[in-house]
Amino acid sequence: MSQKPVISVVAPVYNEEGNLELLYRRVSEVLDSTGEPWELILVNDGSYDRSPEIMRELHKRDPRVRVIHFARNFGHQNAVTAGMDYARGDAVVLIDADLQDPPEVILQLLEKWREGYQVVYAVRAERKGESWFKRWTAKLFYRLIYRITDVNIPLDTGDFRLMDRQVVDALSAMREHNRFIRGMTSWVGFRQTGVPYVRQERHAGQTKYPLRKMIRFALDAITGFSYFPLQITIYASLLLALIAILAVPVVAVLRLSGSQLQFEGQATTLIVVLLMSSFQLFFFFIMGQYIARIYDEVRQRPLYVVAEVLEGSDETSTQETPAPTSDADADERPQTTP
Ligand code: UDP
Ligand code: MG
Repeated sequence: MSQKPVISVVAPVYNEEGNLELLYRRVSEVLDSTGEPWELILVNDGSYDRSPEIMRELHKRDPRVRVIHFARNFGHQNAVTAGMDYARGDAVVLIDADLQDPPEVILQLLEKWREGYQVVYAVRAERKGESWFKRWTAKLFYRLIYRITDVNIPLDTGDFRLMDRQVVDALSAMREHNRFIRGMTSWVGFRQTGVPYVRQERHAGQTKYPLRKMIRFALDAITGFSYFPLQITIYASLLLALIAILAVPVVAVLRLSGSQLQFEGQATTLIVVLLMSSFQLFFFFIMGQYIARIYDEVRQRPLYVVAEVLEGSDETSTQETPAPTSDADADERPQTTP
């Protein structure tokens, strides 16, 4: 194997056939300009388009491109985790494969790293070419997370960032399932800063994050970093108790005064029962979300299964996984929530 790389760039790939060639070209141009040895780690998260062949081709052309093929789709966050597990650089950059994150920004990230920062976020100052719905839900999501979680996750940052080796090692040691890497990076601490950039339009293909996956991702973020949803039950319970206590004298007075205004009839009772059941089921859902995630942890399954690794000039086939962890935002994830 050639020189140990100083910079590792990790890109998760799920059906990105139209982007890989350009991604390689732009990343290699930027990294070559630094004069440092580097590697580009492409994690194939169970793509079923031409991405696997293109990745093989890129690796053949340039052995600095290392390829990890998953046995199936294990989800974006697990793909990124695998990339970090395999990365050997002193600095590791996470980047999307669809070129929404311009590789040229890596130079600014490296500059901050050389100044001594250990985590350098790329902060989305502007988002181009994304739907009104995506922009607003994302904005709302980051603000909600910021409010209710215990860690200070910087607003409007995605996974596009640079991390020092020390940070990567700390993150790799955290094998929790249902990963929300942005939160985990804030959680570990170290000297962190941000660099603003303009998030571009997707170069080719469609988003791999449909609404269903976005909701799952948001739930992972919330349950992973906050107990707030569990705690709101106490407020709901106090409110209902208060209504009940106030209702007793009101009903009694109405009865004794012989008022015409009585709380009678099945309809009223039925509506109240339905409303109460709905509240209760909602809280069951919240508890279920936490319980399902406890179950994920208890089973101790690996986070991903590797089918093949292409590195150096030799190609290694392997069945085992380098470190255990889940199928968090995977496609074929079995339904474990009620
Ligand atoms: N991705 C992945 N596995 C998945 C979904 C997405 O590896 O199950 C990759 C995808 O190929 C891309 C990155 O994660 O490189 C971000 O996905 P996408 O661009 O679809 O998300 P968006 O930018 O629309 O939020
Ligand atoms: Mg994208």
